[in-house]
Amino acid sequence: MTIPSESAIAHPSARIDGTPITALVIHGGAGTIGRAQLTPEREASIRAGLNRALDAGHAVLQTGGSARDAVVAAVVVLENDPNFNAGRGAVFSHEGVNELDASIMDGRTLQAGAVAGVRRVKNPIRLARAVMERSPHVMLVGAGAEAFGETVASIDFVDPSYYHTEERWQQLQAARAEEAAGAASPPSAHFGTVGAVALDAHGHLAAATSTGGMTNKRWGRVGDSPIIGAGTYAIADCAVSATGWGEFFIRLNVAADICARVAYRGDSLQDAADEVVMDRLPALGGDGGVIGIDVKGDIAMPFCTEGMYRGWIKPDGSRGTGIFADDAPTNKAG
Ligand code: ASP
Repeated sequence: MTIPSESAIAHPSARIDGTPITALVIHGGAGTIGRAQLTPEREASIRAGLNRALDAGHAVLQTGGSARDAVVAAVVVLENDPNFNAGRGAVFSHEGVNELDASIMDGRTLQAGAVAGVRRVKNPIRLARAVMERSPHVMLVGAGAEAFGETVASIDFVDPSYYHTEERWQQLQAARAEEAAGAASPPSAHFGTVGAVALDAHGHLAAATSTGGMTNKRWGRVGDSPIIGAGTYAIADCAVSATGWGEFFIRLNVAADICARVAYRGDSLQDAADEVVMDRLPALGGDGGVIGIDVKGDIAMPFCTEGMYRGWIKPDGSRGTGIFADDAPTNKAG
């Protein structure tokens, strides 16, 4: 089998006082539970999950590991946490099954891998990575993606019942009832996704995204999360992972558009992300958010929904988690 070439794109690593910097941002989706439903126990559980993911990714970066290893480590933790719509906590399709999507991109090599509509893979982000590293392809879907996964020793398979959580099942029943009552569009409560972006000590960036998609999806619907350019993108200058109403993110090619603005127009990451997420996305009728990181270690986390589960560790070591816009002085990285 041909392994894609790893011709590196040179980029000097950013430093503070001569020490290479690292940074990490994660999200657990823009489809947060409403403020009214968020009990203190649930909030603590969500923030603990975000912190575990930050710890996993940060541990990789602290020991000189690659951005690609760091984003996978962080996303695996979120996939295993039923609080988030990915892996274990995936939402149900109209037919009452869980179909998972994931993608990863390495900004150093521009290698990318993605899977869509898998039903038995415990950690779809690991399968997306395997597609990137061990196949000549970028994107595999459904049964074919799982057949490829069977050839990779590190991919764990589970019975589909692994993804069955009562909360997601009830969300499907509510969505079906809304649909029967004539609701025109899916409210953001039906969203959710997880993602991570990282800058490693070598000055390289990567992005990863994983999702169960949208509650009540049907006909093999696939959103932006496994689409390279829409839900995930990374180049030498910038890495982005998205969450929100996927149909709009695909049409705006959100993640790649933000990176292009940084690379070609010289926009700051914050300006680029704000313009796409806070202006262009709602203007088209969509909503959601992104996390982004650039090669200097600057981060951005704009969202135009009520909230976005998120966490960050900046180059100076400061860290935090957020849920709603007013958790922080602004919804920007600050
Ligand atoms: N973007 C995902 C999708 O459309 C859902 C989400 O991020 O909330 O499948």
